[in-house]
Order: sequence, then structure tokens, then C-alpha cells
Amino acid sequence: MQERNSLFEYSVERLAGVIKEIGFRCTSCAKCCTRAFNGHVFLLDRDVTALKEFDPSSLEPAPAPEFCDQNGVFYVSGYAIRTRDDETGSCWFLENGRCRIYDHRFTICRIYPHMLHREPDEHGVVDWRQFSGLDQHGEYDAVISDDVSLDLARETKEYENAFLTQEIQFLECLQDYFSRHRLRHVQKVYDDKIRQFNRGDEITVMVYYDGLLEQHRIRN
Ligand code: SF4
Repeated sequence: MQERNSLFEYSVERLAGVIKEIGFRCTSCAKCCTRAFNGHVFLLDRDVTALKEFDPSSLEPAPAPEFCDQNGVFYVSGYAIRTRDDETGSCWFLENGRCRIYDHRFTICRIYPHMLHREPDEHGVVDWRQFSGLDQHGEYDAVISDDVSLDLARETKEYENAFLTQEIQFLECLQDYFSRHRLRHVQKVYDDKIRQFNRGDEITVMVYYDGLLEQHRIRN
């Protein structure tokens, strides 16, 4: 909640100024649509609702679940877009280097690589980070109009707010679920189960979606 309050205090104009200064221009290299470059694409509940209708097979539990209870069941705050088992781990929707749902792509895909997170630097000092993968993709110093940078800044803040709100709701849901079922997070069980998962064992993951936890059995 503190994180979300700090986000509210960060002005749209300030973020728009950073966006203008960096002047990122996409060169359609499609790097950011791969697991090799980006890990995973986390989805907001509203994106999941659309995908459950359109293509449910494109969904998978987001990796690196936050918690594991004493019985070895994992809990994660949402879904991610499935990636393919090709060399770079392409997004499910990437075809011949192009997004096949481009006109309907998700908010995160529209705002990326712009972001607004508080993260520690290499010295542990926490500060705002407004850009992902600087100098690793695309081109810089493009001229971006005031209107476009303001729109992008608004959309980025709106996404970050929605993301943090979903995280908070997940934590509230889990607190209630754990207390009703007498569960607790056990780090040792988490570590042991992850090792087994990496060796090919199946695990149970409860995925937060729309106020509830959905059960999945997954294998690496
Ligand atoms: S949905 Fe489209 S834009 Fe988003 S990561 Fe996948 S291919 Fe890239």
C-alpha cells in the first residue's frame, strides 16, 4: 500500500518528461516478446478475463510463486502469457517476429519498456525506475510529442496502479484463506518443492484471479 501511495505522488508530468528525454523508438526486433529477454509477461485480471474467452491455452500460472504452504502447495498472484519451447521462449502470440494480436495487445505490451517501479540499485539504494532494458533494444533520442508522452505516462501509471492493486488483493485473499485453512508459508518446503519441480515433478499452484484461487497442476 505504501508502494501504491508513492505511485500516486509521482506526477504524470514528471514521468512524461522522462519518457520524452529517453525518446525510445521500437525497431520491431521482437526481443521483448521472448522469455530470454523478459522472463514473463504478467497479466492483469482484465487481460485474463479476455483470454479465457479468446484463447485459454495461452495462459499459464506466472512463474516464481510468492508463497508455499506446509503441504507443498504454491500460491501466485496471477497468470502470465504462455511461452513457446523454441530457442528464445517466444510469446504464444509471436509469429514470424510479429504480434498476431497487435491491435488487441495487453496494456503491459503497449506501455513497455516504460514502467514506474521503485527498485534498489547495485548499492541497495531504492529509487524510481522508469525504463526497462535501457540500451539493450530499440532506438533512443526519438522526438516524442508532449501529447504522446503524457498519454503514455498516464497509461503507465494506470497499469502500475492496477498491478499493485491486484497484488494487494491477492495478499488480502491469501491472508484470509491461510487463516481459514490453518496454513502458513514454509520457506524450506518452498525450496524443496522447487528443486523437485526443476527435476521434473508435478506441483500444485493456486493462481489468484478475480478474488478467488484457481488450482493448477503443472510440470516444468
Ligand atoms: S502479446 Fe504481442 S506484444 Fe505482447 S508479448 Fe506477446 S507478442 Fe509481444
